[in-house]
Amino acid sequence: MTFKIREPYFVDDLVVYFINEKEALVTDYDCRWELRASEDSCECCTFRFRSRVKPGFICRHIDAIRRMKQQS
Ligand SMILES: [Zn+2]
Repeated sequence: MTFKIREPYFVDDLVVYFINEKEALVTDYDCRWELRASEDSCECCTFRFRSRVKPGFICRHIDAIRRMKQQS
């Protein structure tokens, strides 16, 4: 599967919307919060705090982006 920029895709209960090759807006489908995330960073609180304690930690937003990228 190849993904297009500026097309929304469902990854489980998240919507991933790439704004360029690297970055995407990730939204819970029932939530209005948009998080800007890429393959190795995300602006959600979970990632910001957990990655400080545990290097290499990925949140579900990053996981969704990686899964999109792997499929392409
Ligand atoms: Zn996140």
